[in-house]
Amino acid sequence: MTRVLKFGGTSMGSVENIKNVAGIIKSYKDKGDDIVVVVSAMSGETNRLISLANSFATDPNPAEIDTLLSSGERVSSSLLSICLNEMGIKAISLSGRRAGIMTDSHHTTAKIDSIDDTNIRQLLKEKTMPIVAGFQGFADDKVTTLGRGGSDLTAVAIAGSIEADLCEIYTDVDGIYTTDPRIVPNARKLEQISYDEMLELSNLGAKVLQSRSVELAKKLDVKLVSRSSFAPNETGTTITREENIVEQPIVSGIAVDDDQIRVGIYKVIDQPGIAGEIFSKLADDGISVDMIVQTVGVDGKTDLDFTVPTAQIKQTKICMKNFKDECKYIDYNENISKVSVVGLGMKSNTGVASKAFTALANSGINIRIISTSEIKISMIIDKDKSTKAVQALHDIYKLGI
Ligand code: ASP
Ligand code: MG
Repeated sequence: MTRVLKFGGTSMGSVENIKNVAGIIKSYKDKGDDIVVVVSAMSGETNRLISLANSFATDPNPAEIDTLLSSGERVSSSLLSICLNEMGIKAISLSGRRAGIMTDSHHTTAKIDSIDDTNIRQLLKEKTMPIVAGFQGFADDKVTTLGRGGSDLTAVAIAGSIEADLCEIYTDVDGIYTTDPRIVPNARKLEQISYDEMLELSNLGAKVLQSRSVELAKKLDVKLVSRSSFAPNETGTTITREENIVEQPIVSGIAVDDDQIRVGIYKVIDQPGIAGEIFSKLADDGISVDMIVQTVGVDGKTDLDFTVPTAQIKQTKICMKNFKDECKYIDYNENISKVSVVGLGMKSNTGVASKAFTALANSGINIRIISTSEIKISMIIDKDKSTKAVQALHDIYKLGI
C-alpha cells in the first residue's frame, strides 16, 4: 500500500519529536508499505522567520519572504532524512522544486498548478523514501510558498498525483471531534466524516486541517486520516467521500467561531441594485462575507446584516466608506460568536433546526441571525454565551460519549 505521511510543526518540533516521527515511519516501512513523507517546519519556526523579516521592513519583498520561509521546511526535511538514514532507512530530502510542485507566481499565496512526480516515482522504485519539504513549490525558477498551513496541501497534492491509498495528516490532536474538547469535555472523536462536513467544520474554526487541503482532497478523491504523532496507536478520523460513510449521523459536530464581526446597516434605501453594489465591492476587496440577512422593507427602507472575519474589519470599514450616502446608519458588533450545527443527515431529516433553536432558548440564549445550508445551521449569538451554546447543542443532539 502507498501512503503519504504528513507531519506538522509540533510533531517535528524537537530532536526527540523527530525521532518519534522516524519511529512511526519505520513501523510502516517494516510492513512493506511505499511511503512518501511531507513535513512542516519545526513548530514556531515560520513565525520566527516572519518576525525576523519584520524587524527590517514592515512590507518585505514577497519573493524574498518565500526564499526565507521555505528554509523552515528544508531544515526539518533534511533533519528527518538524516535521522532515518542513521536508522538504516534509505531516505532523501526533496525541496518543493525537486518534488515537482509547480505553482503560479503569487508569492506567499501560490496555488499549485501541476505536479511532475517523476522524481518521487523514481525514488519509490529505487526503494528510497522521499522526504518532501511541504508548503513550497516553484514558478519561473523561483521558490514560492502556498500560504499558512500549506504543508497539508503539499501532502494532498502529492497523494493525488501518485494515487496513494491514504494521506495521513499527523498533528498533536488525535482526530476530529464532535466539538472542541476544551469547551465540552465529553466531546467524542469521530471515526469518519465526509469532506463537506469537514469543510464546514474547518471553515468554522476547528483548525486541525487546512481548508484548502480538504477541498483538494475532495477534488482528487484522496482519503485523508487526521491523527496524532503522540498517540500513534489511536486510529484517528478518516475524511472520505459521502458515499463511503455507511451510517450517516444526522449531526456530526458543533463548530464555533469567535472571530467574526457583525456588520449591521439600517434604513438602507430599498431599491434594486444596492445589495449587488455593496457585496460586489466587498468581494472585489477580498473580504469574505458570510451570513447575509436582509429584512423585509418598510417605507422604502430595509436593514441589512452580515458577518466578516475579525481580521478583515479594517478593510471592511474602508470599503463601506464608498457607500456613505446609502448606509448612513451602520454599526460593527464584535461581541458575537457563530455557532454551527453540521451534519450530512440533515438533508433527509426534519426537525433538526427546531431542536437547535429550542436548546438555545432553554439555555436563555437569544439568536441574532440564523442561516442554513443543506448540511449546516449557523446561528449568531452573543459572544459571552458561546460556551454555553456549544454545550447545549452538543447535549441536545446527544453527541457526547
Ligand atoms: N510552516 C508553514 C506554516 O507554519 C506551513 C505549515 O506548517 O503547513 O504555516
Ligand atoms: Mg498545519
